[in-house]
Amino acid sequence: MPELRSVAVVGASLAGLRAVEALRARGFEGRIDWIGAESREPYDRPPLSKEVLRSEWSPERIALARNGLAGFAAQQHFGRRALRLEVAARRIELDGGDPVVFDKLVIATGASPRKLPGQPELAGVFVLRTLDDALAMRGALEAGPRVVVVGGGFIGAEVAASCRQRGAAVTMVEALGNPLAQALGPELGALYAALHRDHGVDVRTGVAVAAIEGERRVERVRLADGSVLPADLVVVGIGVRPETAWLEGSGVALQDGVVCDASCATNVPGIVAAGDVARWMNPRYGESMRVEHWTNAALMAQAAVARLLDGPGAAKPFDPVPYVWSDQYDTKLAVAGRPRAGDEVRVVDGSFEQRKFVAIYGRAGRLVGAVAMNRMRMHLEWRAALDEGLSFDAALRRAAG
Ligand SMILES: Cc1cc2nc3c(=O)[nH]c(=O)nc-3n(C[C@H](O)[C@H](O)[C@H](O)COP(=O)(O)OP(=O)(O)OC[C@H]3O[C@@H](n4cnc5c(N)ncnc54)[C@H](O)[C@@H]3O)c2cc1C
Repeated sequence: MPELRSVAVVGASLAGLRAVEALRARGFEGRIDWIGAESREPYDRPPLSKEVLRSEWSPERIALARNGLAGFAAQQHFGRRALRLEVAARRIELDGGDPVVFDKLVIATGASPRKLPGQPELAGVFVLRTLDDALAMRGALEAGPRVVVVGGGFIGAEVAASCRQRGAAVTMVEALGNPLAQALGPELGALYAALHRDHGVDVRTGVAVAAIEGERRVERVRLADGSVLPADLVVVGIGVRPETAWLEGSGVALQDGVVCDASCATNVPGIVAAGDVARWMNPRYGESMRVEHWTNAALMAQAAVARLLDGPGAAKPFDPVPYVWSDQYDTKLAVAGRPRAGDEVRVVDGSFEQRKFVAIYGRAGRLVGAVAMNRMRMHLEWRAALDEGLSFDAALRRAAG
C-alpha cells in the first residue's frame, strides 16, 4: 500500500473536528487540509436554540475545541466552500484559493435548513443553523416581537420555548399535527402541545402556511385555513437537507445524503463520510439511516477515521443506538433507539401527566426505544439496555425488578 501522505476533511463543525482529532490521536502525522464554509472556528450547535437564543451564553462559551486548533497542525481553509470534487484527480475545488489535492477524504458537510416553497427574502424571516443566525435572531428578540414559528420539530419547539422565555408572544404552526408527534408519537406530541400551551404559546396544528407576507420586512403569516397571524419575526424550522451539492456528478453515491456502507466508507475507495450528511447501513437495525443528532456526528467521525486508517478488513461496523436530547422550558427529554408510532409503549417510571417519566418501546419482541423526561440518570440505564439488545420481555422484567 502506498504511504498515506494527506487527508482532506471537508466540514469544520462537530464531525469535521472529531475527524481531525481522531486522525491525530491515532498517530496520523501527514498533511491535513481542513476546509469549512464558515469562517468561524468549530462551535456547538445545540445551545443555539437554547442558551444562546435566551441570551444566557456568549458565543465564546460554545467553542468546540477548548484548547484551540493549533495543536492539530492542520492547514485550515475556513471561510472557503468546497465547490466540486474530482475523484480521479483526488482534487477539491474551493470558492477562492488553490484547489486542495488529497490521498484520502472525510466528508463532513452536515446539513442546511429547508425553506418553504416560495419563501420570500424578507427582513425578519429566519432559519436557525449557524451562530450568525442565532445572534441575529437574539438581537431581533430585544424589541419584543410577535413571533411565528413554522414547524413543530425539535428546532421549532426549542425556538418557541426560548422565545417565550425571552417574553415574546409566540405562535407555533405545525402542518402535520402536534409538535414533536412526528418524531415521538401521538402521546408525547399531545404532551408537548400542552407544555407549550401552558407556557402561553398559541399552538396551531394541522394547518399549513400559505404565505409569508410583507413589504421589505415580514408583516404577517397567512395560513391555509384563511387565518392571518401578524408577525415581526418568523422562524422557519421545517427540517434540513444534507449538504451534498458539491458532490453531484463526482461519482460519490448520493441518496438523501452520502451513501456509506456499515463502516462509513463511500463507494469511492479512500473516501468516508460522517455526521448529518452521511447515510449508512446500521447493522444493528439492518436499516439504512441518516441521523441528524449531535452524538451520532461525534461517534461516526471517529468510526469513519478508523475505517480510513485501518482499511476495510480491520474496521468495525458502526452500529450505534441513536440518541438525542431536547431541552424546552424546565423539561429535559432524552430519546434513545428507534421508537416509532405503532410500537408497544410502557411507562416504567413516573407518568406523562407528571412530565417526569421513562417509557420503553417494544416492536417484534425487541426493546427498540427508551424515552425519558426529567429522568436523565435512569435513561442512561435504558440506553445501556438498548445497547445490550434486550428482548422486550426481558426489559419489562428488568423494569419490574
Ligand atoms: C439549533 C440547533 C440545535 C440542535 N440541538 C440539538 C440537540 O439538542 N441535541 C442533539 O442531539 N442534536 C442537536 N442538534 C443537531 C446537531 O447540532 C447536529 O447533528 C450536528 O451539528 C451535526 O454535525 P455535523 O458536523 O455533521 O454537521 P454541521 O454541524 O451541519 O456542520 C457541517 C459544516 O460543514 C460546512 N459545510 C457545508 N457545506 C460545505 C462545503 N461545500 N464546503 C465546506 N464546508 C461546508 C457547514 O458550513 C458546517 O459548518 C441541533 C442543531 C441545531 C442547528
